[in-house]
Amino acid sequence: MVESNIGFIETYRDPSGERGEWEGFASMINKERTKAFGKLVESAPKHIPKLPWPKDFEKDKFLAPDFTSLEVLTFAGSGIPAGINIPNYDDVRQNEGFKNVSLGNVLSAKSPNEPTPFIRSEDQEVFDKYKDEAFEVQVGLHELLGHGCGKLLQETEPGKYNFDINNPPVSPVSGKKISTYYKPGETWGSVFGGMGPSYEECRAECVAMSLCPDYDILQIFGIGNGSEDINGEAGDVLFVCYLQMARAGIAALQFWDPNSSKWGQPHMQARFAILQSFLSAGPEFCKLQHSKDDLSDLTIHLDRTKIQSHGRPAVNDFLQRIHIFKSTADKEAATELYNRMTNVDDWYMNKVRPEVIRQAKPRKVFVQANTMLEGGTVTLKEYEATPEGLVQSFVDRDYI
Ligand SMILES: [Zn+2]
Repeated sequence: MVESNIGFIETYRDPSGERGEWEGFASMINKERTKAFGKLVESAPKHIPKLPWPKDFEKDKFLAPDFTSLEVLTFAGSGIPAGINIPNYDDVRQNEGFKNVSLGNVLSAKSPNEPTPFIRSEDQEVFDKYKDEAFEVQVGLHELLGHGCGKLLQETEPGKYNFDINNPPVSPVSGKKISTYYKPGETWGSVFGGMGPSYEECRAECVAMSLCPDYDILQIFGIGNGSEDINGEAGDVLFVCYLQMARAGIAALQFWDPNSSKWGQPHMQARFAILQSFLSAGPEFCKLQHSKDDLSDLTIHLDRTKIQSHGRPAVNDFLQRIHIFKSTADKEAATELYNRMTNVDDWYMNKVRPEVIRQAKPRKVFVQANTMLEGGTVTLKEYEATPEGLVQSFVDRDYI
């Protein structure tokens, strides 16, 4: 089963964000992985109630998104994403619908064997072994359940509410009846404005961190047998899910600009916040350690035996606040919380960030295959993972 997409699609490369860049890809559906994602969507009604809020703050019916996992044959364009939500044309989305696709072999493309910065040497092996599986679990939960869950409490038109205004739900954060909600004409975007995208990414990432310690869910992804197994394969994947998130929280500092004191990338800002929530669970669960003054030996210490007892509760506490403030249009509380959790203090700015930049690896490029017709049959031509191989594959794409 083949899927393709071609046209003037993304506008990232145009400084004014207007003109699309010509790009296209040809890919095959990964049926097995698509099925795993489908099972996750089907089981959503069972898992969503495990999230840290009462049903007043959840949709009556979970709207299952469409999701397909693809293996890319060739993606022609200046940059290759790991996942896409297409098409970008709003009229097509409204009338025909849209789909989420994950580009499986982009996520799992093998990089050269090199130690990952900030991972302890004793964790390096398990990290390398399971980082792809862990990332797949994270992305699946993020996209399908994370962005898909939650209800906005609204006055949908003057005098009409999608909740009981005479007996409003009690916020699990304050223990009091809620007093804020979306007014007629207000949307999530109009209330939260510029902070909205990163805040929502953080909510989705927290949902992933809240649910991945559930061994039933890991089993849906083909990991383990559904029973708790801290030191087995499922426990390894879970540990790497948390470790990878903590590492991303440190690496995120590359995307923080000291001149403007601003974050340049919504997902990375979100991951920094989640690292702070891990750290808030106490040094017996997660700490950043170094013995050298320049932090060149900075590593993350994360205790896998304390994910259930410390990590998950800390994430749930943070997630509950994020979620309730979004649900109730409480921008003031949300802003206070998110600014505090993503604040880059002196130590992160002057000590950690320079080390993150020093250890940053160059951006990976992808050497991609081509197919060609030879005597009526299609053949696959692959290239060496070298600069020459990369150039040759571009040349062949143009001229054969
Ligand atoms: Zn997202």
